Amino acid sequence: MNYKSTRNPNITITSAQAIAQGLSHEGGLFVPETLPEITKSDILAFCDKSYAERAFDIFKLFLTDFTDEEIRHCVENAYSDNFDTENIAEISHLLQGTYILELWHGPTCAFKDMALQILPYLLTVSAKKTIPDKETAILVATSGDTGKAALEGFKNVKGTTISVFYPEDGVSDMQKRQMQTQEGENVFVCAVKGNFDDCQNGVKAIFTDEKIAAELEKAGIVLSSANSINWGRLSPQIVYYISAYAELVKNKEIEYGEKINIVVPTGNFGNILAAYYAKEMGLPVNRLICASNANNILTDFINTGVYDRNRAFYTTVSPSMDILISSNLERLLYHLSDENTELINQWFTALKETGRYEVTPEVKAKITDLFYAGCCNDTETKAAIKDCFESYSYLMDTHTAVAYKVYNDYKKNTGDGTKTLIASTANPYKFGAAVFDALGGNAEGLDEFDIIEKLEEMTHTVIPEPLAATRNKEIRFKGVIDRDKMPETVKDFLMK
Ligand SMILES: *Cc1c(COP(=O)(O)O)cnc(C)c1O
Repeated sequence: MNYKSTRNPNITITSAQAIAQGLSHEGGLFVPETLPEITKSDILAFCDKSYAERAFDIFKLFLTDFTDEEIRHCVENAYSDNFDTENIAEISHLLQGTYILELWHGPTCAFKDMALQILPYLLTVSAKKTIPDKETAILVATSGDTGKAALEGFKNVKGTTISVFYPEDGVSDMQKRQMQTQEGENVFVCAVKGNFDDCQNGVKAIFTDEKIAAELEKAGIVLSSANSINWGRLSPQIVYYISAYAELVKNKEIEYGEKINIVVPTGNFGNILAAYYAKEMGLPVNRLICASNANNILTDFINTGVYDRNRAFYTTVSPSMDILISSNLERLLYHLSDENTELINQWFTALKETGRYEVTPEVKAKITDLFYAGCCNDTETKAAIKDCFESYSYLMDTHTAVAYKVYNDYKKNTGDGTKTLIASTANPYKFGAAVFDALGGNAEGLDEFDIIEKLEEMTHTVIPEPLAATRNKEIRFKGVIDRDKMPETVKDFLMK
């Protein structure tokens, strides 16, 4: 299995190259040349396998340049007792036929762990094959969840270092605390005066600075990324949709062949794209439902075929979805335009220059066929948390609540009664203050830890151990810098 770039038809590389490199030189994203098939007998066989075994079988289809031993090494280390449940991902029931896929049982309590617990292993194997004897320096700009999950994944991984930048005032108190108390010998965390875009632009500037690249090269260091533009981040996400389907078959909730809807609270379009890939591989999926918060650029795009980022940016109670450029959409458009790299170049150049592009009627028709899109604001998100808790005694975080609300709208609008899987992307305690507020709690004078203790009393649920533990951990990283100090800060850390 080879990988192509979405922007240059002449590039064909192996999976190890795609993962080690992250992004193609001309700016394209790497995509598999063909999609392997997942059959009825695969799914039925998965019923009797563990999550790691299912992951092994699926990775074997995508990473054909890895040996069985290498893949086994990756999946067995990534999916074991670092998760608080043996199943790795759990399925909860709301009512008959509505299932919640809990993707937050990993060490940082957000779904990013599903990919970032395995990425360091995939990356070190890939680097050994393609750039031996070099140290990989991961740079991350984060709005909260990716940074912490990447730090946990890469901490103390030999041959790697990781530097994370977050906006000083753009993350939740719990997210900040999680990052500032990060353990590990090869980690660096720093706050930036500015917003997420400032961090992201700062990191991009370091990636494209030839002088820095030359200095690092001399020191034997190669920069790489842990964002979902990396195929090594995206492919692990395909696994949990296939695994969840097998689990539903195993539990006799569905029969093999029965189509299900999948609802995904969406930001960078990585998680829902993985569901699309699972469907294209043959998983029986009916509709993909894309849920957005007040930053509803994807809702508009899916409904009109026009992507227009010339609009206000909102800070919401679901911050991990506060995003105006959903990078992974490029992969979808590449497939839906029949791999037309010319069109992709045209659209993404237009996006860069004017902030807007419009897809062809053919592509628009395919999108409408596959996806339903909806959005909701903060008031509706909080009402959804309250409604779900009061109706089903199920406590959701602010991101999952967006999906729940959009799914209820979908049912009302379409009357579709197909069984449905809702992706739950974070543990509610990660966004405890907003969840507490949604349930009518009064947080006046309380700090983050007081609030989650109150939430625990109020809902008879349990604060996850890794979040509770941050209270007494030493704060290791207090630094706050101006954006233009990012390059020298990174160099100081890497060259010390
Ligand atoms: C990252 C994140 C999302 C958005 O996922 P994408 O793959 O970027 O669409 C949603 N919810 C939470 C909690 C997240 O951390």
